[in-house]
Amino acid sequence: MNPYRNYIGGDWTEGQDAADNINPSDTRDVVGMYARANRADAEAAIAAAHAAQPAWAATSPQQRADALDQAGSEIHARRAELADLLAREEGKALPDALGEVVRAAQIFKFFAGEALRSGGELLPSTRAGMSVEITREPVGVVSIITPWNFPLAIPAWKIAPALAYGNAVVFKPAELVPGSAWALAEILSRCGLPAGAFNLIMGRGREIGDTLLGDPRVNAVTFTGSESTGRKIAQACVSRRGAMPKFQLEMGGKNPLVVLDDADLDVAVSCAINGAFYSTGQRCTASSRLVVTERIHDRFVEAMIERMRGLTVGDARAAGTVIGPVVDEKQLAQDLDYIRIGREEGARLAAGGEPLAHIDGKPGFYLQPALLTGTTNTMRINREEIFGPVATVIRVRDAEEALAVANDTEFGLSSGVCTTSLKWAAHFKRHLQAGMVMVNAPTAGVDPHVPFGGRKASSHGPREQGRYAAEFYTTVKTAYVQP
Ligand code: ADP
Repeated sequence: MNPYRNYIGGDWTEGQDAADNINPSDTRDVVGMYARANRADAEAAIAAAHAAQPAWAATSPQQRADALDQAGSEIHARRAELADLLAREEGKALPDALGEVVRAAQIFKFFAGEALRSGGELLPSTRAGMSVEITREPVGVVSIITPWNFPLAIPAWKIAPALAYGNAVVFKPAELVPGSAWALAEILSRCGLPAGAFNLIMGRGREIGDTLLGDPRVNAVTFTGSESTGRKIAQACVSRRGAMPKFQLEMGGKNPLVVLDDADLDVAVSCAINGAFYSTGQRCTASSRLVVTERIHDRFVEAMIERMRGLTVGDARAAGTVIGPVVDEKQLAQDLDYIRIGREEGARLAAGGEPLAHIDGKPGFYLQPALLTGTTNTMRINREEIFGPVATVIRVRDAEEALAVANDTEFGLSSGVCTTSLKWAAHFKRHLQAGMVMVNAPTAGVDPHVPFGGRKASSHGPREQGRYAAEFYTTVKTAYVQP
């Protein structure tokens, strides 16, 4: 099998070696062999980006808009095929994968528009006769490091704004999902970008990460992934000699979904099921802590258990599958470990939690969604990100205690509340300490055209997506002009 290659300086190049991309729904199925880059490849990609960036920045906004629009159109036209590939390599159920592909297309279209709308401000100076112009310029070369859980949408929401504002890109996708990244790179290679404006290097973060962060030609680093890697990236950025790169980190979450006594039970259960278990719970915005007030608690738990029975676990691409497999063996072991830890801490496994070695004869990393009840917010299962189809229920007295528990976490990405009370909805919207707040909606599942990001240990740096993306991918110049 010929490996899929890296894309450096407009050429498809071999890596130092190649790795199999395995389907987590059926580990006998190899999606393909994908090249792995070494440091020299990473350096070559950075050199190519550095050389191409001024010419790309000098293109007309219309040229950049056309390139991104073309990418968005092709992603959308090929959505069924790309969703199949995404589901096959990552394991999310096909409808979720299709939603992700469509969203990636929307993101490219959105930033095609933004390339044309990027303007500035003209203000009178405080000094007579003088004026002040505020304009945005590209940052330069951006290293883009992405995780495996959204193999297309997260790369899209970093690559599209980077290119829209005139930056050059070195894109390193997660090791587990090179297929979607390669497909995206192949599309971008035919969209009229100058050679080197966009580069793909697949490979191991811990091998080529140093180069992506440490090379002085890299002007900005955007990362989504685990908190521990995020902190390493921050350290590497601040300790770089000379100019520090700009850096933006999206890391973990421990997102609470509060269910108040007056909630519509059906709505609350739907939000919790979707938020906690869809995409196999492998979303940084997953509703992993269900904080439930005491008068609705028992009815809520009972209804959850009932609904969980209907969550068909299976091959991500099989008709009827709602919950696909966990992404790999290591993640499955981590999920099972946390279920065990939770039980040792005194939680009750009220539903699910069983690993299934085979489904329909296919060996895969299957896990029935798990609900742990009788938990307290001090337990490890409520402090640490699990990143799997594992949710906990924390019983609280009333709305005020629910709010305190919801906010009692290191993280602050997304928080939700289910209530029919206008008063409580407004109160929680105001006081939940999170970058995103959902009222009667799951904590996961966001729009592509509005800011995404968190507070506290979840995030660092400006927001992603929507018009707010300009904060990271541009640098502001203030010009004073005396005619
Ligand atoms: P996860 O694998 O759970 O998504 P990680 O934080 O380990 O979370 O990985 C996210 C991305 O960061 C991946 O693309 C990975 O290759 C990359 N990465 C891992 N370690 C480093 C590192 N030391 N420097 C730069 N990137 C890294």
